[in-house]
This record gives sequence, C-alpha cells and structure tokens, in this order.
Amino acid sequence: MSMFADIPVDVGVIYEGERIRWQDAQLEFGGPRVEHKFELVRVRNLDEVEDGKITIIGPDIKDLEKKSYPLGIYIEVAGKELDEEIEGVIERRIHEYVNYIEGVMHLNQRYDIWIRISRRSFEKGLNSLIYIGKVLQRLFKSELPIIEKIQITFITDPEKVKEKFKEAMETYERRDARARGLKDEEVDAFYGCTLCQSFAPTHVCVITPQRYSNCGAISWFDGRAAARVDPKGPIFRIDKGECIDPLKGEYAGVNQIVMSKSGGEIQRVWLYSAFGYPHTSCGCFEAVAFYIPEVDGFGIVHRGFTENTPIGLSFSTIADSTAGGRQVDGFHGISIEYMRSPKFLQADGGWERVVWVPSVILERVKEFIPKDLVDKVATEKDAKTVEELKQFLIARGHPVVKRWEARAAEEAAKAAIEEAKPAPPAIAASTPTAELTVPVSVGAGGFRLILKNVKIHAKRVRIVRVKEK
Ligand code: SF4
Repeated sequence: MSMFADIPVDVGVIYEGERIRWQDAQLEFGGPRVEHKFELVRVRNLDEVEDGKITIIGPDIKDLEKKSYPLGIYIEVAGKELDEEIEGVIERRIHEYVNYIEGVMHLNQRYDIWIRISRRSFEKGLNSLIYIGKVLQRLFKSELPIIEKIQITFITDPEKVKEKFKEAMETYERRDARARGLKDEEVDAFYGCTLCQSFAPTHVCVITPQRYSNCGAISWFDGRAAARVDPKGPIFRIDKGECIDPLKGEYAGVNQIVMSKSGGEIQRVWLYSAFGYPHTSCGCFEAVAFYIPEVDGFGIVHRGFTENTPIGLSFSTIADSTAGGRQVDGFHGISIEYMRSPKFLQADGGWERVVWVPSVILERVKEFIPKDLVDKVATEKDAKTVEELKQFLIARGHPVVKRWEARAAEEAAKAAIEEAKPAPPAIAASTPTAELTVPVSVGAGGFRLILKNVKIHAKRVRIVRVKEK
C-alpha cells in the first residue's frame, strides 16, 4: 500500500538507489540525449506562493511516447525563516525525494538532471507529473517545516524549458560566485554530506569553501545553512581539527568523521590531490580528472561530453571506474566549480598538470586558469589521441613537458650509474639456458612459473610463506 493513498505507487526510502534500465522505462526526462533540462528552487515572499499549486506547461507523461524529453522543475517556496541562502539545499533534496517514488529514478542535479519512469509504475497509474509534484510537496513540508508554502511548475514544452534554462544557469552562477573568495584556512568548520550513500555507500563529501561538493550543487554556505535548518539531515558540520598537511589538504577532524561516516572504510582524505588518499567519488560528480601516464598530466571530462577522450574512453567508462564511493588513485570525481578554486589539485601541480579539457568546460573556467596556461591546455579540437596530445603539449611548451625532461634526465643518470658498476663475472659458455618450469604451490591450486631463456645466479634462495593477516 502506498504511503499516500492518492498516489498510485509506493513511496519510501527503500526505493532510493533503484536503477531503471532503458528497456524497462516508459520514458525519460533530461539525460545525455537532451540539451535543456534543469531543476531550480527559488525562495519567494509568502504572498507570492500558492501553497499546493502544481502546474504543467507542455505535455504530461501520459501524452508522451517512449523517448527522451526536456524538463524543467521549477519550485517556489516561502516561509518566514527562509532566505535565498537555502535555495541550493532545498533544491538538492529533489534528488532524494523523487528517488523515494517507486519506479522513478532521478540522477544528477541542476542543469544535468536525468529522470526515468518505469513502465511498471506507469501501468500502475503513475501517468502524470502531478503525482510527482504532490509527493515532493508533502515530503518537503514534512521534512523541512520552515517551508510554509510550496508551488511547483513542471515544464515539458521544449521552447519554454529553453527560456527558463537561462534563468536557472544565471541563478547557479550567482550562488557559486557567493562562495568564492573565502579561504579554507579562514573557517573553523567544513561540512559533510552523505546524501549519495544510497548509490555509493562509503562516499562522504567534504565541502570546504575552496572545494565545492562533487555534484557542484552544495557550496560551503549551503552546507552551513543546511546543517542549521536540518541538524539531523544528511549534511553536517565537520570540525576541521589539526591541519596535518596544508598542501595535500589533510585534516585530523576530516579523517575522523569520514572514517566514522564511511563505516571505517575510508581512513584518510587528501582534499587537494587525486593521488594517495583522494576525496571519494560518488556517482553524480560533474566531471572526472583522470591521470594520463604517457604525458604525466591530467585530462578532465564532464558528463555532457559525448565523444571519446584522448585515452580512447568516454565519460561513462571513466566514471564507472571512478564512482562508487571509492578512492581510486589518479581518478577523481570533481565539480566544475572546484576547477575555479586556487586549491584545485594543488598537491599535484594544479592547472600546471592539466593537459586536456573539453572546449566548453575550458570556456566556462578560463578566467580562473593562470593566464599563461590557457592556450597550453588542449581540447578535443586540438588532440583526439595521446600521440596528438603529446605533439600539442610540446608545440605549446606546456609545463608537463619540463617534467618529462626532468624524468628523462633522471633515468639517463640512473642508467649511467648502472653502466659504471663493475661488470658481473663472465658466465661460462656451457651454462644451460633452456626452458625451466618451477612449480609453485599456493593453497589448493598453485601456479607454475615458466622461465624461458634466462640465466639466474644466486648464492642462496629462500622462499618464505607470508601469513595472512
Ligand atoms: S555529491 Fe556530495 S554534496 Fe552532492 S549530494 Fe552527493 S554527497 Fe551530497
């Protein structure tokens, strides 16, 4: 039975994390095939909001066939204690509450939403956005009582979505800009978020003034406001504690809380590095920084990029090997706003280590990249393979080229030292060099080492069993 008698499907936390494959879907809104989609919350005066009102501009679910459609979810709220600062926090809850609905999957945030309705739930009667609006209104008012009035407009008319999309983008930019300028060193507390644990159980976002949340939807100010209005919610305060390493961004208080919130899985976090103990990556990050060993630099690819990167992999393949709440050395889920931060991958060399970025993203963050580097970072227009990338970096004199030279010099010095060592005693011509098979028994199965055409000289060999911890 449904939690709400007038909603044809069930609603509850158990449906969070439910995945709906395309073959099981009735239709989808947003997602990679659709250019314009958004969700936006605005705070209004009490007399500007008609509580309980739900409007649909354009066709409803029941009028549409199995395809991908544009969608705008425009929510206006009012309450004596509400102010603009809380808009981002309320907006991020749309993800959580929509996912409570049986047979509805909501992914991502802001301008990047992706909603699928399952055929099964459609057949049960979930054939109108009005039902989704009703669930949202009830959950928002019961979970966040500071919302006194709420009205929701769903826009599916492609032209109207496009029109409102502009307002949404301007509002996001205004929010992000408010958080710029404040430094991590200037605050006593960071904020944490575990909203994505339904998809990535060990993921804990650490939101600092200079490291925006992975989804790009929660700033430090949003975190502070959320922890204040909903202290038992998924966003909480983190007392920084002792700064263990200012370059890498390691804090005792962060380690402690991440360890407890990840069930002991994550023990340390380096906030400003993609190596060692990088910040965990959930699944709704806006972009991924991926290490390219051949050039000793980072590529960055965002969710909206549909071509392959120079390493021959697409965003979704790279995202799959990054996501899930893990710390993957060299693969790092990030927000676009973090790319504007002076702390961006600071421990790894920051922008001096970034070699490839899709052109639309480069355009969005360009004014935050050191001036002398902007033309040295390749885009898909400059390099489609690692070889083309190498040529581009050499031609533009990118700082990573100096790293290659330093590495080559180091390797040459090592080789010279090796060469200067006295030669080992000559081996008798009669030494047998035939194939040798050494059976090695490990556990029940064991394996064989096959040594072909090798010469091994050893005074003594000891094979020691390593005890399992
Ligand atoms: S990405 Fe981070 S901040 Fe954003 S909803 Fe998920 S856990 Fe919260």
